[in-house]
Amino acid sequence: MKNCPNCSHILSDEAVFCSECGAPVAQEPTQQPYIPAAPYDHTPEFDPADIADNKIFAMLSYLGILVVIPLFAVKGSPYTDFHVRQGLKLLILEAAAAMLAVLLSWTVVFGVVAVVAEVIIAVLSLMGLFSVGNNQAKELPIIRNIKFFN
Ligand SMILES: [Zn+2]
Repeated sequence: MKNCPNCSHILSDEAVFCSECGAPVAQEPTQQPYIPAAPYDHTPEFDPADIADNKIFAMLSYLGILVVIPLFAVKGSPYTDFHVRQGLKLLILEAAAAMLAVLLSWTVVFGVVAVVAEVIIAVLSLMGLFSVGNNQAKELPIIRNIKFFN
């Protein structure tokens, strides 16, 4: 409940105009809607200078085997380490998909599995590059469930 600023008539919280005198009534400040923190966005955990300095290396993490460049060349950059871990997971996923494709090579689903796996890995790699491009550190879907290196 609130009171009309003009005539002190008691009004509901939702009232925009006083029902007694017609004066405009200021809306109560509405509560901020609850915004859940993005659980897979770790961007705030990293130093902005680290993010800016190591953008190129972080991007290399998502270019297949080129992940070895930041893996061995960059030290002391938690931001790069984050993306290297994801890049390594993508490589593992790719290796697993290749093994699965070999196991299925005598079946008709072989081609489908290989193509689906390649598309998924390509999409995840692009999402990783996009994340770095936006100076972010987001856990990628699928590989976020791979718990190695964490
Ligand atoms: Zn009033």
